[in-house]
Amino acid sequence: MDHSEAASERKYYIGEHSLTAKRIEPGLHIVSTPIGNLQDITIRALETLAACDVIACEDTRVTGVLLQRYGIRTQMMTYHEHNAQRQLPKILEALAAGRSVALVSDAGTPLISDPGFRLVGDVVEQGHKVVPIPGASAMLSGLVGAGLPSDTILFAGFLPNKTHGRKKRLEELKGIPATLVFYESPHRVGASLADMTEILGKRQAAVARELTKRFETFQRGTLAELSDFFSGDRPKGEIVILVSPPEEQELTEVDTDTLLLEALKDMPVSTAAKKVSKATGVDRKTIYTRAMELKNAGSAEDPESD
Ligand code: SAM
Repeated sequence: MDHSEAASERKYYIGEHSLTAKRIEPGLHIVSTPIGNLQDITIRALETLAACDVIACEDTRVTGVLLQRYGIRTQMMTYHEHNAQRQLPKILEALAAGRSVALVSDAGTPLISDPGFRLVGDVVEQGHKVVPIPGASAMLSGLVGAGLPSDTILFAGFLPNKTHGRKKRLEELKGIPATLVFYESPHRVGASLADMTEILGKRQAAVARELTKRFETFQRGTLAELSDFFSGDRPKGEIVILVSPPEEQELTEVDTDTLLLEALKDMPVSTAAKKVSKATGVDRKTIYTRAMELKNAGSAEDPESD
């Protein structure tokens, strides 16, 4: 993992300009790389990639393109989900010997729907230094261009591939008062938007495609409009879906359901309705009707049965 050049001689190039990378401290450096446009990389990231002892990457061909662009000649080793166990001891050994290792993924920020989480956990456990080098991530670029509330967000990564699992996950996310951010494959975007329309209801959303690349586009509208738009042709490229938070009224409904389901576990419908009506301020008749719906739908446990 060592290499012959002294760190002080490590070079990188921006266009015609040759720059010397400063020495970096030992430890695991988590380096964000571009999500499409190779210019989206920080000077600190370039210095780190040029100065470190070894770069752990998912695919040497992908990272090789980036290194070539900036004239960086640091040695690479692979680290991905299929060889993580085998490569971990090598990385820990290098760190224990006082070396610097840069972790990159194919694109964007490592650990964000990418490998690295376990590695960072193990490195922290062994008492080695972890240094994040921030930069591009599709979730943040999607968020800042979507035009949706950005004060509270929930990054939900990839949804399950199959409808049943996807709907179940969406039910779990439905009541969360945050803009939801999903990664999605172009093959499933239509199906996912259809499920989102069904489960999450009438909400504003955006589909961000090919961020930072030549054909970058944002499609904005309600979930139903976007579902229509993407129901025909499969879009090409990489995609982030963003969905605005539920309205206050929807949240009250979700809270009411949660309280009702809890109350219905150990009391009859009328008593549960009285209790939840008092707690939420919603009139007892409305709550009673909802309690009956939940009970008939089988969502509530029957306290009278054993
Ligand atoms: N680590 C990356 C990051 O920080 O964004 C994410 C890696 S994840 C394996 C790949 C997914 O990220 C893609 O399927 C897509 O949903 C999203 N993504 C990555 N690059 C993108 C881009 N340029 N435009 C839109 N979405 C992108």
